[in-house]
Amino acid sequence: MLKAINVENNQVINLLDEEWKQKRSSLKYFSQKAKLICPQCKKNVRLHWAIPTRKIPHFKHQSNRDCIYGSGESDEHNKGKVILFNYFKTTYASEIKLIDIEHFIPETNQIADIYIQLKDGQRWVVEYQRSNISTEEIRNRKDLYKTNQIKDIWVVGENLIKENGMVTRSIHSSAQELIFTDFTGEASLISFDPITKDVLILRGLLKLNQTTYTIDNEYPYNINDIFFNRWGQPFVVDDYLKVKQLRPAIKRFGTLSLDVHVDSLTHAHPYYIAKTSSNKHGKENKQANMYFTIPPELENFIPLGMQDLVINVDFILDPDEQLTGENPFINDVYPSKWATSIKANNSDPFLEPAKYGNLFNLLVTTYQSHYLTCDEREKELSILLKGKQVSHETKYNYLKKIGVVDTFVSKDSFMKKVSLEEILESFLKMMKVDFEIGTSIEQALRYEIIMPNELESPLTNGILLEIYKRIDSHLHKVLQ
Ligand SMILES: [Zn+2]
Repeated sequence: MLKAINVENNQVINLLDEEWKQKRSSLKYFSQKAKLICPQCKKNVRLHWAIPTRKIPHFKHQSNRDCIYGSGESDEHNKGKVILFNYFKTTYASEIKLIDIEHFIPETNQIADIYIQLKDGQRWVVEYQRSNISTEEIRNRKDLYKTNQIKDIWVVGENLIKENGMVTRSIHSSAQELIFTDFTGEASLISFDPITKDVLILRGLLKLNQTTYTIDNEYPYNINDIFFNRWGQPFVVDDYLKVKQLRPAIKRFGTLSLDVHVDSLTHAHPYYIAKTSSNKHGKENKQANMYFTIPPELENFIPLGMQDLVINVDFILDPDEQLTGENPFINDVYPSKWATSIKANNSDPFLEPAKYGNLFNLLVTTYQSHYLTCDEREKELSILLKGKQVSHETKYNYLKKIGVVDTFVSKDSFMKKVSLEEILESFLKMMKVDFEIGTSIEQALRYEIIMPNELESPLTNGILLEIYKRIDSHLHKVLQ
């Protein structure tokens, strides 16, 4: 434990505070005179602070083994906790109202490793779990946080996961309890090694037997390359690239693409408002407020605090070659720190085969821009602002509701190639065209949503986007 109370003046001593870092001898003196007590059970604690330091300076109970404070802690636990604390404190400084280490929460009667009160009213706790405590105890702690509307982020020690094959990992039972579903719907787990400072995010975990799981992906990252969004979900550049694969850039005729560097971004109904600073094309951009509607799947990649983002956006040009500022289409939203690795990974999405996920995203976009009523949009936004996300399932249900799709599509099938018939059928249904199954190509040719020459080319995202643009302008005309 890193905190104790000095009985002389009731002062809380937090060893992380600057003022104590130079005061080892006075602390030693208090400790020897038995002036230091545990903030929780009020029994005596001793200072452990050797020179040279081998372990993180800490306090330890002299006798009370039943106290919830400081139980089951190791030097690795203390080290990890301090590194994680400093990461949250510095990375999200602008959003944090209060951050505390080893914080007692009266409502749950728990001591959280790290407790964060955000300016937007959310409360988060970060728990660094290295000991294999009972699954019941973990469930109980999680339930208490949930009941009290505290977002709990669990990070497990590297000691709880063992590599036992190329795609298999043996995971301790306590860590199994901490597997969570991330924003892409994948079962995930975060681990942290306080010595190497590597964070590992395991994605797509699937249980094989009592201890063994298969994994889809395992990302080793430096802690500073991990971000948390405002829902308290971790994300890394590979998550972004995966989503990006399903979300080709849409370049309309007569548009200008800009990289907008954003200093700050506030979410306000119904747009995000950004203060922008510069762009690489040298067009003048006078620190003006810009308004963006950020596609939901990209919102996941806006770090809490939203500082220092790159937004790649297409603007429609009017005939005088002036930016109209209307309907900018967002192609990219990501922390500017990633700019180099994302550019290195840019393949031409137009030439890639169209996948089911591409179609899904375009159908959702079409639905949202043409059919979503004000009430539905309001509802969606209020869900978002309460700190929840509108799930893929909910969006998919919108499509079901209007009869655009009739079977449920799983996460895995998003990556599968989609056939032209499937694309055309969905879009014809979106247009509310009556047609017989099996005649979608014929109908689509008649409505000019596909051109004869496109039937012979391989089905790429480029063609899918052409189809989307024609539907979009068709619906724009008929629904006005
Ligand atoms: Zn105690």
